[in-house]
Amino acid sequence: MTRSEELFARAVKRIPGGVNSPVRAYGAIGETPRFIQGAVGSKIFDVDGNSYTDYIGSWGPMILGHNHPAIREAVIKASENGLSFGCATAKEVEMAEFICERIPHVEMIRMVNSGTEAVMSALRAARGFTGRDKIIKFAGCYHGHTDAMLVSAGSGVMTSGVPDSAGVPKGCTQDTMIAVYNDLGSVEELLEESRGRVAAVIVEPVGANMGVVPPADGFLEGLRRLCDKHGAVLIFDEVITGFRLKFDGAAGFYGVTPDLVTYGKIIGAGMPVGAYGGRKEIMEKISPAGPVYQAGTLSGNPIAMAAGLAQLQILFEDPEIYTRLYQKGEMMFEGIRRIFVENNIPYQVNSVASLGCIFFTEEKVTDYASAKTSDTDAFAAYFKYMLNHGVHLAPSQFEAMFLSDAHTEEDIEAALKLIKEYFYA
Ligand SMILES: *Cc1c(COP(=O)(O)O)cnc(C)c1O
Repeated sequence: MTRSEELFARAVKRIPGGVNSPVRAYGAIGETPRFIQGAVGSKIFDVDGNSYTDYIGSWGPMILGHNHPAIREAVIKASENGLSFGCATAKEVEMAEFICERIPHVEMIRMVNSGTEAVMSALRAARGFTGRDKIIKFAGCYHGHTDAMLVSAGSGVMTSGVPDSAGVPKGCTQDTMIAVYNDLGSVEELLEESRGRVAAVIVEPVGANMGVVPPADGFLEGLRRLCDKHGAVLIFDEVITGFRLKFDGAAGFYGVTPDLVTYGKIIGAGMPVGAYGGRKEIMEKISPAGPVYQAGTLSGNPIAMAAGLAQLQILFEDPEIYTRLYQKGEMMFEGIRRIFVENNIPYQVNSVASLGCIFFTEEKVTDYASAKTSDTDAFAAYFKYMLNHGVHLAPSQFEAMFLSDAHTEEDIEAALKLIKEYFYA
């Protein structure tokens, strides 16, 4: 028995499924999760002394690579003053200013502790602002685990084979309407059907929780136009894309301006941070400035702010990082495409900048229905091969590969070589 196996055997007795978040379980691919001891740069080490090149990056936050010295230093320094005060601190102001001064569509911002909370609060703000109840989301987009958003929610929910969660009362999802990703007609239909009652349209501007599904040309622009026409708030859930595609996220990358944006993952550099922000007239509705209640004992925590701000400063001050990430994405995903073309492998490779994935299907993947045509058993076999050869991928067909600035050309070449061997054999 490996140490990971031993720990997992103990974990399942005391933690449901042995993990504190379902995506960490390897159930879908019939493996035991590797328990992690530490990580540095592009490498991650398990408790059995194995080392892997990591393409999960804590699901996105580690865009600069693991255990970045400047971020670690910022955390150590901040912790010397105490871990939490439950009072206002200078770092929170610096964080808010740093973001608002660099991202024009974020006029005001509120810190929370996770992406889930960010989305939940942004939806409440949109409802409070418009005085309307209905929300439109897209099948296959994940927006955290609040009741109202656990409908056709992608990745974790998808892989476990449970379309919707148990324990969610009908009342909580009755105002959630589901549109088809990349299908503006489906959105227009819902907006017409519920004319004057839709508070918000929420979207992952790049779908990244049903595998990677880029927005079709004109899709995001179309959402902007439809929201304007119907007086609905357009929310970009940038929990994955924010500070990743560019500093100003998918909004900047595609040149489409949302009314509200949600952040998570990168914004905390590995600490539990989320945030939502946007137009001042909406954000001013938030308590105590306005009537929309939202609070958090640990929100804006000084250690978390120190970590997040240190990472954002590095990302903003060295724009070459985004150029490099883009090039690494091209190298990896174009590399896989080339291998597939050369060997007549009919599978799909979708990518945007440093995010991408292989879909084990012959069908072009543009939405949830096409993503679901993937052969998950074929994915599982591929995953196992990669894991056993030192490449740490997300254990699900419906997750992205996350590249970081710490991945080297050698890392990517090694991964491509393995992929070639696997598909050629
Ligand atoms: C991860 C994720 C969330 C939820 O964030 P948590 O910090 O896990 O609560 C919400 N939206 C998107 C797009 C995500 O990828």
